[in-house]
Amino acid sequence: MTPLQALQKYFGYSNFRHTQEAIIQRVLDKKDVMVLMPTGGGKSLCYQLPAVLLNGLTVVISPLIALMKDQVDSLNLSGIPAAFLNSSQNPEEQKDIALQLQNNQLRLLYIAPERLLGKDDRLMTFLRTLNIVQIAIDEAHCISQWGHDFRPEYLMLAGLKTQFPGVPVIALTATADKLTQKDILEKLNLQEPAVFISSFNRENITYRVHPKKKSFEQLLHFLKDRKDDSGIIYCLSRKSTEALADDLKDAGYAAEAYHAGLSNEVKARNQEAFLKDDVKIMVATIAFGMGINKSNVRYVVHVDLPKNIEGYYQETGRAGRDGLASDALLLYSPGDAMKLKGFAMVENNAEQSAIMLKKLDDMVDYCQLHACRRQYLMHYFDEPFPDNCGSCDYCLSEFVKFDGTLIAQKALSAVSRLRERFGSAYVIDFLRGSKREKIWGEHKLLKTYGAGAEVSRADWMRYIRELMALGYLKLSDDGYSALKLTSKSEAVLKGLEKVELIASQSVEEKDQQELAFDAGLMDLLRKQRQDIAVGENLPAYIILSDATLLEIATYL
Ligand code: ADP
Ligand code: MG
Ligand code: ZN
Repeated sequence: MTPLQALQKYFGYSNFRHTQEAIIQRVLDKKDVMVLMPTGGGKSLCYQLPAVLLNGLTVVISPLIALMKDQVDSLNLSGIPAAFLNSSQNPEEQKDIALQLQNNQLRLLYIAPERLLGKDDRLMTFLRTLNIVQIAIDEAHCISQWGHDFRPEYLMLAGLKTQFPGVPVIALTATADKLTQKDILEKLNLQEPAVFISSFNRENITYRVHPKKKSFEQLLHFLKDRKDDSGIIYCLSRKSTEALADDLKDAGYAAEAYHAGLSNEVKARNQEAFLKDDVKIMVATIAFGMGINKSNVRYVVHVDLPKNIEGYYQETGRAGRDGLASDALLLYSPGDAMKLKGFAMVENNAEQSAIMLKKLDDMVDYCQLHACRRQYLMHYFDEPFPDNCGSCDYCLSEFVKFDGTLIAQKALSAVSRLRERFGSAYVIDFLRGSKREKIWGEHKLLKTYGAGAEVSRADWMRYIRELMALGYLKLSDDGYSALKLTSKSEAVLKGLEKVELIASQSVEEKDQQELAFDAGLMDLLRKQRQDIAVGENLPAYIILSDATLLEIATYL
């Protein structure tokens, strides 16, 4: 039987989608593969079809115990003998499956990673007696600490290539940037892997980022015309999911909360109600969504800043699986960014925290973008994309802009007067004529000192970032992150070129308070930075965390 014949006979589809056929061929040739395909792209078929054609057992590792039964049921319905092993089964059931395995009666066996290499090696030893012809690792990004959903039990999969030499391993994920991809390949020890990457563009999703002001009112405004639509609202903390779900219920919406701290019963009940459309809005932490196959999710809102682009893109990708127009809205506040930076800096070892900070910086850049958001996202995943998608807030001209020439001139001339030797924190203090901060005496005599006192610190920070994005300023690359003029600066300084800036999006009072870190945390951050600076040779990250520190210092 050819792969195409098997596709038609067992799965009832007439054609392969994009890269499926090439991937399947590769597995049939007993080669290792890594597959990056967006959610809903058809990853399962890439190992299920070889499982039908290869003479032996395919082991599927999946973290989603709840979904195993569905998958197995539907395979059995298609006439493909499959089973799963997990903790929900009693010893009798497990014995029955073991027997079927011994008699070579099964084509696919689904197991959770923690089962595979548990305390005792029994299952592993048993598996080694079987004729295993393929190992599929679903949600493979879970093996990487650099990914957004690290699961320690996935690390146990590192030994598979040695335990089952010659058996092709196919690793599948819908979410992995360059770094995570590399990490997956290394951790799984894949041999000469072929990497298949499908287009990640989701044309039917419109991306928007709004400044977070009064988030609940903003949310109600967004939901006003969407009463009958199904949507997911992501929050950072468990507590806020419950509070927000309650507030939405009070406002007349059918909303429920979902987070890892709820009992299994409540989680299952809420998820079920959402899938059945009894509950329209799921207010959730990122614990919700992986593997959820609900096609008519019309919007995904992030009321708090996601930690990285991978997570954000994965979460927004849960909207519009049916191909119909859908919305992704993110409410951004610099306060959220500061908070996450704090977490990233104190929680981890130096290397890990540097990587998390880099990813967070990319997330912040995305929020403060002065260009097509889809292009940014596609480039983030190394996919070429033109500069106008027509369906993000930037391309739809929803940004409110103003003539920022004067602002730009002030900033550029301050940089110039300070001889391009200072970072943004100092330049901003200088512009604002700060008395509080230490400004060198001679600088106080310069004409530009205090010329931008009317603009808040946070707005200056934004404008300077925008001027960098527009190419009028850049950072020195000597590790000090000093602001430098560019070849484009002169025309602005001479009044020959106008600069359009995005109108100020001043943040809520509350956020301003959140920015006021206590001195203790600041000390900790400084120490942490020292570790990064002296510990390893990570020059790129040193620059970055310097910039980060400067930014934090600006708010103090
Ligand atoms: P993923 O795991 O990548 O999120 P799935 O494997 O669950 O996606 O597949 C998503 C949907 O696409 C499923 O309903 C599946 O049956 C369907 N599908 C997969 N391959 C094909 C194909 N070649 N033709 C038509 N439908 C397909
Ligand atoms: Mg899948
Ligand atoms: Zn766009």
